[in-house]
Amino acid sequence: AKSEGRNLYRFFEPGMDAMVQARRALEVDLGTALSRQEFDLDFQPIMNIASGEIVGAEALMRWHSPERGMVAPDSFIPVAEETGLIVPLGEWALRKACTAAARWPAGLRVAVNVSAVQLKSGSFARSVISALAFSGVPAGRLELEITETVLMDESEVVLRTLRQLRELGIRIALDDFGTGYSSLGYLRRFPVDKIKIDRSFIHDLSNRDTAAIVRTVIGLGAELGITVTAEGVETEVQLDILRSNGCTEAQGFLIGAPSKAAEIQRLLRSRAPH
Ligand code: C2E
Ligand code: CA
Ligand code: CA
Ligand code: CA
Repeated sequence: AKSEGRNLYRFFEPGMDAMVQARRALEVDLGTALSRQEFDLDFQPIMNIASGEIVGAEALMRWHSPERGMVAPDSFIPVAEETGLIVPLGEWALRKACTAAARWPAGLRVAVNVSAVQLKSGSFARSVISALAFSGVPAGRLELEITETVLMDESEVVLRTLRQLRELGIRIALDDFGTGYSSLGYLRRFPVDKIKIDRSFIHDLSNRDTAAIVRTVIGLGAELGITVTAEGVETEVQLDILRSNGCTEAQGFLIGAPSKAAEIQRLLRSRAPH
């Protein structure tokens, strides 16, 4: 009983208490944010390196909280995943992204980030099909970005869902490639259409070893017949290195920062393939 008491005391130590409370408050605010329409999507352009044309854009979620200001997705997505809010929130994002893409020039693709929690929910394929039907965007223009955490537990639901989506013509991109434990293993077991090299590699491209890794990943993509996109491209030097090594696509501040739907629509109309 004595040690129990001490554990309880430890659990409720002042600093911890404050952390737990802050976290609870975030969960509460997040819980009402969707119905209060506090979320929005920005879109970041993706360029084909060889042609210089913009071939699509990635939807990135934004939370404008009246109390907190702009909250970064890296801080609210994990909370939304734990509370399950990511399921309706992700569904909202899919619809919103497809609705935006419906107004882009034909052929331009829209990429949407998908959490492991969504894929495990069992209703995911249905909500994707519904978003496409609702917007009138053909499946071939939708790309779903998943990270390795999606593939880590090889649940039957996830596998079946990914297969079903690919059969519809939807593309699957492996996001943040190279940051996980077993990127190559997943590549062997799961059919993907695209690899997105994590921006930490691009940031460190002046390092000889990092450059060698990036070259190898680009070569791997070519061998496997899949698209390779470099994330976080910020300088002409980086773009030149990627171009001379045959990297397919680039995304990053150099090509364009994430921007509002109306703005990206203008950009896409002026820089799309003719
Ligand atoms: P991500 O999918 O890897 O998205 C790319 C992130 O890199 C974005 O951050 C983008 O603003 C940032 N970025 C783009 N170009 C550059 C660059 O040149 N340099 C640097 N330093 N950064 C660049 P953001 O918007 O803060 O999103 C962070 C992460 O939150 C995303 O990483 C993604 O994992 C997650 N996320 C965003 N939207 C969604 C969503 O709708 N659903 C889910 N499940 N996750 C999302
Ligand atoms: Ca992404
Ligand atoms: Ca990424
Ligand atoms: Ca990420």
